[in-house]
Amino acid sequence: MSWRDNYDPKLIEIVDRVDKKIAPRLAEMDDQVIENQSKVLRAFQEHHVAESDLTGSTGYGHYDEGRDKLEDIYAEVLGGEDALVRPQLVSGTHAIGVSLLGLVRPGDELVYITGKPYDTLQEVLGMAGNGIGSPIEYNIKTGYVDLKQDGSVDFDAVRARLASHPRVVAIQRSRGYATRDSFTIAKIAAMIKVVREVSPDSWVFVDNAYGEFSETKEPLQVGADLMAGSLFKNAGGGMAKTGGYIVGKKELVERVSYRFTVPGLGAAEGATYGSLEDMFQGFFQAPQVTGAAIKGSIFEAALLEELGLDVSPKWDAPRTDLVQTVNFGNPDDMVAFAKAVQHNSPIDSFVTPIPEKMAGYEDAVIMAGGSFVQGSTIEFSADGPLREPYTLYIQGGLTYAHVKLATVGAAQDTFFSQSTK
Ligand SMILES: *Cc1c(COP(=O)(O)O)cnc(C)c1O
Repeated sequence: MSWRDNYDPKLIEIVDRVDKKIAPRLAEMDDQVIENQSKVLRAFQEHHVAESDLTGSTGYGHYDEGRDKLEDIYAEVLGGEDALVRPQLVSGTHAIGVSLLGLVRPGDELVYITGKPYDTLQEVLGMAGNGIGSPIEYNIKTGYVDLKQDGSVDFDAVRARLASHPRVVAIQRSRGYATRDSFTIAKIAAMIKVVREVSPDSWVFVDNAYGEFSETKEPLQVGADLMAGSLFKNAGGGMAKTGGYIVGKKELVERVSYRFTVPGLGAAEGATYGSLEDMFQGFFQAPQVTGAAIKGSIFEAALLEELGLDVSPKWDAPRTDLVQTVNFGNPDDMVAFAKAVQHNSPIDSFVTPIPEKMAGYEDAVIMAGGSFVQGSTIEFSADGPLREPYTLYIQGGLTYAHVKLATVGAAQDTFFSQSTK
């Protein structure tokens, strides 16, 4: 019996058609994986990574050679001068928050030019939540420039806003829970050019979540000064069990290191006990895993479009992150699909997710994904708020084969009544 026998023959016919259609796009992704893998491999060789570097330190973490080499490798591959790659960075939000709060001082201003920042960052910046500990309490102004109706950056408004020369100008690469397109490296380069024209002394920070290895260049390679992200997204390669990274100009990485620990200590302390082996191996595998996840998104986009759904990006559009959105148009199909994603996961496949109200969201949210690492979204997962147009945000996948099977399974459960499961 073949895997095909588990599904409706009509669905399998569509899958075969989709496979043919997307083959050239998948081949392009395979080429990109080789480009990125080559950079990572060369960095490992140049920095003489040895078996003994994988062990990690205890206590204060002084003289942790493995940690130093890993940070040098991140800096080199991602286009920075220095990096912090630490298990004590508890998530992407923490890494991004430490960066932003570490850069600014009382009286400074911080402005996002890509619209309202990602939900959790709104609380970090005092735009939502109770504001305790946020920059507002330190007399630091934070704000954002709205995007235009079509989801593009409003350059006229940005030029006007940057006339005050804010200390930090922030850019969010991935769409988050917004309906806009994610910003490609080419688009980020154009934004940075404008920032340099209008406010040359501002530091440009990029929220690079979901972006690493999605293209062959990173924001720092088109002029950004600092960027950060999570290790349970692309850069962790599905191996890292915890952690985040911050990469960029040496002076700025040092500055935020005093916010990461405390003034004086900075990056000098921080044991890596038990985490380095996964972080090294994860970063080594990250180009391949990110490639698999993006190939999976291309398959999802093509298949679900064939089934009549409104998807973004389209299967043949340029991609700069892992996120695939699908509008179901009604709550029933959206919830059914999310449940099927969960039922087609390696872990907790027997669990059924239900929509629930969550702090920080106005509508009930459904979250599906049975991952090895809790909440990991480099692993196959789907989530979204239950409101018009009933959009599910689908991302990740450690292997292309799994994303393909899970997507076909979810399509079967949602749209083909004679389920054979
Ligand atoms: C996921 C994400 C974050 C935060 O990362 P966490 O690890 O979930 O805290 C920040 N910004 C964007 C755009 C994201 O997608």
